[in-house]
Amino acid sequence: LTAEAQAVVDEIEDKEVDFLRLQFTDILGTVKNVAVPASQAEKAFSEGIYFDGSSIEGFVRIQESDMRLTPDPSTFAILPWRDGRSARLICDVVNTSTGEPFEGDPRTILKQAIDRAHEMGYMVNAAPEPEFFLFEEDEEGRATTKTNDVGGYFDLAPKDLASDVRRDIIYGLEQMDFEIEASHHEVAEGQHEINFEYDDALTTADNVGTFRTVVRAIAAQHDLHATFMPKPIPRVNGSGMHTHISLFTESGENAFHDDDDEFNLSETAHSFLAGILEHAPALAAVNNPTVNSYKRLVPGYEAPVYIAWSDRNRSALIRKPAARVPAASRIEARFPDPSCNPYLGLAVLIHAGLDGIEKDLEAPDPVRENIYEFDEEKREEYGIETLPSNLGEAIEALEQDEVVQDALGEHVYEKFVEAKTQEYDEYRIDVSQWELDKYLEKF
Ligand code: GLU
Ligand code: MG
Ligand code: MG
Repeated sequence: LTAEAQAVVDEIEDKEVDFLRLQFTDILGTVKNVAVPASQAEKAFSEGIYFDGSSIEGFVRIQESDMRLTPDPSTFAILPWRDGRSARLICDVVNTSTGEPFEGDPRTILKQAIDRAHEMGYMVNAAPEPEFFLFEEDEEGRATTKTNDVGGYFDLAPKDLASDVRRDIIYGLEQMDFEIEASHHEVAEGQHEINFEYDDALTTADNVGTFRTVVRAIAAQHDLHATFMPKPIPRVNGSGMHTHISLFTESGENAFHDDDDEFNLSETAHSFLAGILEHAPALAAVNNPTVNSYKRLVPGYEAPVYIAWSDRNRSALIRKPAARVPAASRIEARFPDPSCNPYLGLAVLIHAGLDGIEKDLEAPDPVRENIYEFDEEKREEYGIETLPSNLGEAIEALEQDEVVQDALGEHVYEKFVEAKTQEYDEYRIDVSQWELDKYLEKF
């Protein structure tokens, strides 16, 4: 065993952990578990744990179903809501017939994006801002859309009854080694945001999965349902997962910072940003991958609709947040939402940005006005395109965009489009409550 793996095995013994959850993520972003008794820890590290990949969404065909999980020792953490008797390890998935990383494993896809950045001389840092709602459960323990508080943006107790829950969630996250920067009540009733420290892109994607698991588990202890669904309630703010990104050089300098630039953004940053703008419609398919995602991307709720960037306005697709120090110069992609697979979401953002750098793309001028208020003529004058308005259009955009397809790799691309086309078709033929209310008695 490596020294790092041995240290984990020792810790498992010292802390009397009984069960290990070996985790990985399927293409749709759901965290999967294979639980093994702690006595298997050494074997998990030395030989890996075999499982049947054919039972996992979008993984493999039946005839090539043997997969192996290789735990990443740096991801060891004891689960705070299981009396300290269970721990998790995030794993890479290996194809047993080739011994190579499995090309259908989202973590592998993100690693490839990070490797491409390395080859170009960069390290990728990222910080997501997942927002979520806390809802009451009904008598049967099923989720409702009834909020248990009436707080608003940054409100404090006693109005914000959920602050107890949020505090417990933060304790839980801290026990899992999260560095929490801030937490606040968001704009909508029942809506929250907890920000954690930025990290390298891979750790950040791992963290998003962990974050969602911890938030749900601890909310459930309070008989609440936490949801990361992008737009659970119509006509109020939805939940985004703004993603802050910067590139650092290997000597530790922020490659996105330039003192002399009006926005303190380097040429590299401008090109990276331009790459994201260029590929935005296809990126949306991956970063806004549900039917419901597009109910959030409408004017008026601080979520982007138009493909533009701004150093001020929150209606833009990308914002340049104010930075106190050069190291903090970064861009904020505002369109991703927390229903996305964090590995794939980041992977495609990184590739699109690197594509912008490689092609020396130039960013347009930032838009400082509220784009929600632009009419079509003004948008045309500024050359502003719009994001796809539904999942079907987003899939079409993805089918047109080779850079984003390559970012996903053939396996993930095909499985993803297949699953999402089916999801959209299901939605398309369904008849909604809105339609019944509108037409049933009228016609
Ligand atoms: N909830 C908004 C969204 O859907 C974002 C609010 C904010 O700026 O934090 O993206
Ligand atoms: Mg927010
Ligand atoms: Mg933000």
